[in-house]
Amino acid sequence: MLVKVILIFLLAMVLVGMVGKLVFPSAIDRMKAKARLRSPVCKSCGRYVIGKSCDCGKKG
Ligand SMILES: [Zn+2]
Repeated sequence: MLVKVILIFLLAMVLVGMVGKLVFPSAIDRMKAKARLRSPVCKSCGRYVIGKSCDCGKKG
C-alpha cells in the first residue's frame, strides 16, 4: 500500500514537471536568461565580469 502511494506520488511529480515544461517553456527560458544576466560574461575574453568592466580592460 505504501509503495503504491509513493509510486503515485512520483508519477504525479513527473507529470507536473512534464506539464510545466509544456505549459511554461518560455518561463524556463526567461529564468535561464535572468541567470545569464546576473552573471555577465566578457565578450572579448569570456571571463565573468564583476562590476562594469572586465579585468582585461576591454568593454563588454
Ligand atoms: Zn575580458
